[in-house]
Amino acid sequence: MKGKRVFITGGANGIGVCLVRTFYDAGALVAFCDIDAEKGKSVCENISPDILFYPVDVSDEKAFSQVVNSLINRWGDVDIIINNVGISNFSPLVETSIQQFDNILSTNLRPVFITSRALAIHRNSEEGKRRYGRIINIASTCYLQSEPGSEGYAASKGGIVSLTHALAVSLSEYNITVNCISPGWIQTTGYEKLSASDHNQHPAGRVGKPEDIASMCLFLCAPENDFINGQNIVIDGGMTKKMIYEE
Ligand code: NAD
Repeated sequence: MKGKRVFITGGANGIGVCLVRTFYDAGALVAFCDIDAEKGKSVCENISPDILFYPVDVSDEKAFSQVVNSLINRWGDVDIIINNVGISNFSPLVETSIQQFDNILSTNLRPVFITSRALAIHRNSEEGKRRYGRIINIASTCYLQSEPGSEGYAASKGGIVSLTHALAVSLSEYNITVNCISPGWIQTTGYEKLSASDHNQHPAGRVGKPEDIASMCLFLCAPENDFINGQNIVIDGGMTKKMIYEE
């Protein structure tokens, strides 16, 4: 990843901070954004002051577009975008307002369109279309299975899976692949406190870790791995392949 310029959304916590660390350790130039200004700053302090942090709310269309464009201008281009921000905010259907539903979509789904569109506009030239690029979107196994009260989240993640294949085809003239990853249960804090049954219910025998997602992102970004395109890669320890009927 030496010299590759990577932009990660939601890099201050959870899977995002693991992505920041993994790409930095792999030699990439890393920038990330997050709404959590305090944690964002501490990520730079803990990992490296060379990492760029943009405090912004990705659901604020204007402010977020400005961040994306100013990063492209600062670096001259961005090679890899990882659209990781996601909020779940489950609430019973009858108690969920239309505004709450919209807010989940504009936080989880719309930013994927905003970053991808900005990169395509920036590279919309004969030379630009030849440049290496990767877009990776973080969806969820909720794209195909649900818990009660997850309408906004499920819709946003299903939207990401579909937006991913649409972008892969729209960007086929470019040297950019677009894939998404659907994590299952990824424990981002207190992994050691999980119970045996938490682990054992997974066909893989364990709950997932942020590193399980980060290593797939690295794999997808290897220049030789450019034949994987438009796909949704499920990383869930086999849970969505397990049939569960209670007697
Ligand atoms: P997290 O809550 O730990 O991290 C999400 C980050 O996004 C936080 O740093 C948060 O501050 C930031 N964020 C939230 N709203 C924002 C906004 N409006 N603008 C800017 N930043 C904002 O979540 P996580 O568990 O690390 O999840 C990361 C991604 O993986 C999400 O898209 C999530 O849906 C997906 N995912 C996670 C799991 C899991 O088990 N952890 C499972 C499936 C999918």
